Amino acid sequence: MASTKYIFVTGGVTSSLGKGIISASLGKLLQARGFSVTIQKFDPYINIDPGTLNPYEHGECYVTSDGAETDLDLGHYERFLNISTSQDNNVTTGRIYNDVITKERRGDYLGKTVQVIPHITDEIKNNFYKLGETGKYDFVITEIGGCVGDIESLPFIEAARQARLELGPTNFISIHLTLVPYLKASGELKTKPTQHSVKQLLESGIQPDIVVCRSERHLPPEIRKKVALFCNVPMNCVIEAQDADTIYDVPVLMRKERLDERVLSKLKLSHKKEPKIDKWKEFLGRLKNPTEEVNIGLVGKYVQLPDAYKSIIESFIHAGAENECQVNVKWFDSEELFPENISQHFSELHGILVAPGFGERGIEGKITAIQYARENDIPFFGICLGLQCAVTEFARNVLGLKGASSTEIAPKTKHPVIDLMEEQKEIKNMGGTMRLGAYNCILTKGSKAYSVYGHTKIKERHRHRYEFNNQYLDAFEGAGMIASGINPETGLVEVMELAKHRWFIGCQYHPELRSTVSNPHPLFVKFVKAAVSFKEEKEDKKLTEKDMAV
Ligand code: GLN
Repeated sequence: MASTKYIFVTGGVTSSLGKGIISASLGKLLQARGFSVTIQKFDPYINIDPGTLNPYEHGECYVTSDGAETDLDLGHYERFLNISTSQDNNVTTGRIYNDVITKERRGDYLGKTVQVIPHITDEIKNNFYKLGETGKYDFVITEIGGCVGDIESLPFIEAARQARLELGPTNFISIHLTLVPYLKASGELKTKPTQHSVKQLLESGIQPDIVVCRSERHLPPEIRKKVALFCNVPMNCVIEAQDADTIYDVPVLMRKERLDERVLSKLKLSHKKEPKIDKWKEFLGRLKNPTEEVNIGLVGKYVQLPDAYKSIIESFIHAGAENECQVNVKWFDSEELFPENISQHFSELHGILVAPGFGERGIEGKITAIQYARENDIPFFGICLGLQCAVTEFARNVLGLKGASSTEIAPKTKHPVIDLMEEQKEIKNMGGTMRLGAYNCILTKGSKAYSVYGHTKIKERHRHRYEFNNQYLDAFEGAGMIASGINPETGLVEVMELAKHRWFIGCQYHPELRSTVSNPHPLFVKFVKAAVSFKEEKEDKKLTEKDMAV
């Protein structure tokens, strides 16, 4: 294809309508037609990146392999498209201003008054085009965060208006996602909020080419007609996005609505060939027809907001489908777990995952959960802080190191089994300064971790400041907790496992950031598999006990 096509996705009426999923689904359909696609997100907040945002408020921070801390929508892009995103795929207002101000200080603007238009909007446009200019993509989909009409997203919308003129109608397309609410009392679907939202976009100079209507209900033809009339689009460009059972249904639903065809025909591209989505459908088939079922306990402290563990939840969906197993993730607030109630809480579980996290709150509950998993031979998976807690638990309860801890939790501990990484000691700024992104790791042949991956060389993404303290390594290995994955360049411990346990693995990295629909992460796949075997064994045991009783 001669030049890159740009698709802009905006939203209105309310946030959280699923622009990320619509973008990812459209991307998937275009990719399934043989196009190369990438998706980028422009966020209107002032933070340079979401790294310092509270997960309670903003959900998970997604880390790319080049070490950028980004919005969780990038996770959806990667999971749907099986692509790798980068720093360039997530741009915030903060970053734009930071770059413009840096240029201003450098004297790049040659004495000019630096203004929102054109300087900020030019900078935004440079970033809009950056990935397209690499020549690697047929399509760049740009999702603009927030809602049209928000004060803070105005420069982005203005920049999109300018981009539309610069690119011309066969290279630019605007998709607007709105809500068509159903009013129970009157039994009607209402188009007024959509009309207003499109009007708002028109006021900013952008006529949407396609209006996608999120709705609880099916949109009857008269509603589509009304939206078409008031929003100035042909009826076949009013697309229904009805609530789905799973986000993974959305590409198929968008195909039924022919969203991909509408996009291609607007951009004057052929849409004769059908997209190849058989593999995706096979995945859906496995996801929806499980033959097994397991309960996994997810122990964390951000359990009120499931988005805080988005990638973990999605990884379980991928791994569940791979095993044709329904994975019921049960949430446990680690602040509510104590030795006295743990067996009662965990009696129905077939696997326990201790989640990543920061700070002291909820640590003891995590340690209690791990001790239970270790002593009762229940499949255990610890991620990042989860590994660090497993190390702490082992130090205290097996090695007998009283008060052992991480210096993040207890800076004055006598046994700092987890300690600040050397390169972190001088760091004062919190933003973007953790050990971030993909690093190499070598797995020990014969270990469980090795059997999970099937090879020794792996590369996984990180986001942490603390590490296993190698001074204790001999003591740990002597007592049966083995460092089975090591960073070859630095010697940092990346994976630890218990030799005498059915499945007990902790990793310092975040495998959940690499799991995709077409490439489920092996650690999740094998963890679910271990949970299935554990369940079977548990049930067999129960049956034998019953037989013996008779
Ligand atoms: N707080 C721990 C550290 O910084 C763990 C981080 C995490 O779980 N992502 O090392």
